[in-house]
Amino acid sequence: MGGRDATMVLLDENGIRCDGRKIDEPRRIMIKAGGLKNADGSAYIEFGDNKILVGVFGPRDVHPKHMSNTDTGILRVRYHMEPFSVTERKNPAPSRREIEISKVIKEALEPAVMLEKFPRTAVDVFIEVLQADGGTRCAALTAASVALADAGIPMRDMVAAIAAGKVADTIVLDVNNEEDQAGQADMPIGYMPSLKKITLLQLDGILTPEEYKKCVSVGVEGCKIVYELQKKALHNKYFGNRDD
Ligand code: UDP
Repeated sequence: MGGRDATMVLLDENGIRCDGRKIDEPRRIMIKAGGLKNADGSAYIEFGDNKILVGVFGPRDVHPKHMSNTDTGILRVRYHMEPFSVTERKNPAPSRREIEISKVIKEALEPAVMLEKFPRTAVDVFIEVLQADGGTRCAALTAASVALADAGIPMRDMVAAIAAGKVADTIVLDVNNEEDQAGQADMPIGYMPSLKKITLLQLDGILTPEEYKKCVSVGVEGCKIVYELQKKALHNKYFGNRDD
């Protein structure tokens, strides 16, 4: 969360944001299920200017064997940003940030996946960020849920994710990169709409208790929009295009 850039108007007098959106409007979201022939399941997402590909492999044997669990399956997640995905080249070695994001995505997916159905095995989720523009963890979590469903992994629900935040003293949906840098708070949320359960909630910035509640409810409503697009992506792959 950087200091406010005085030259940038984050919210104009008509309630329009720096990229032309209204306060409760998400960026353009396109999700495609499938696409990677060698993966058991895959998905591609464009979330504004974020472009992310996810491949799922498994359930498969765990090596080394002592890493496996006789009672349940394990989920392994690797979030990786391509060096060319951001304006300033990113070092290809795993950064602390990528390790943290891999962990939070894994923990956000675990309540959704019926790991108890495949003991001793692992399901691997590989996330490749091809282009980043703020909100990659939410876009990646959203696409990972679709890729797991595409792989036929038994699931209780899909996790849909989007960030809410505070920009120019206003709670907005889907914080973009400029808003993240110059805004006041960023709250990524992962939510399972059918089970009505939040599985990811982080907060960077400062909110009053009222703003916090508003942010959660704006984020949850946003997740419901994302969820419809996840279901549509799977429907399009398995039952043909649905234009509604
Ligand atoms: N970013 C970057 N270089 C990096 C890491 C991040 O330019 O090494 C940008 C990228 O656009 C990313 C944004 O900063 O989406 C916000 O990163 P953050 O850690 O808040 O995670 P995200 O919002 O992507 O989940």
